[in-house]
Amino acid sequence: MKRAVFPGSFDPITLGHVDIIHRGLELFDEIIIAIGINAEKKHMWSLEDRKSFIEHAFHGNDRIKIKTYEGLTAEFCKTEKAAFLLRGLRNSLDFSYEKSIAQTNAMLTGVESVFIISSPESSHISSTIVRDIARHGGDFSALVPKGIQK
Ligand code: ADP
Repeated sequence: MKRAVFPGSFDPITLGHVDIIHRGLELFDEIIIAIGINAEKKHMWSLEDRKSFIEHAFHGNDRIKIKTYEGLTAEFCKTEKAAFLLRGLRNSLDFSYEKSIAQTNAMLTGVESVFIISSPESSHISSTIVRDIARHGGDFSALVPKGIQK
């Protein structure tokens, strides 16, 4: 069983994440969408809302599991018996950031990071942009799965 963890804050999940997850299902038998709990970070949506948006987006797909975790992502992968960490890459900034994290995670537990390049239709999408639009009362529905409201 090839299992991967797709970690993030998902504040909120976007069509960019959904694209990477769908394409990840071509590579892995199971993907655990893992919402990292970080008490230091301020979120726009509550953990319950973020989780329910993801559940709604992948409803009925038994190859997708949704979990929350605290602490090191590499340790979480080990606990979940996931040999792979799935990440999306939008641009060279993502690459520079992800490279050192992937190398460190491999050093910590041997977990292998696998990167999927975002599709051209979704490489401009980020949770940050969605939050900015939401903060100003704009319509962000074209960037997120159905059912996400402020
Ligand atoms: P983090 O809190 O780690 O930044 P995010 O929830 O923002 O987590 O993102 C989780 C993963 O999804 C990261 O690998 C990120 O690069 C990827 N990702 C986010 N938006 C997109 C997008 N539009 N296209 C492809 N990958 C994306």
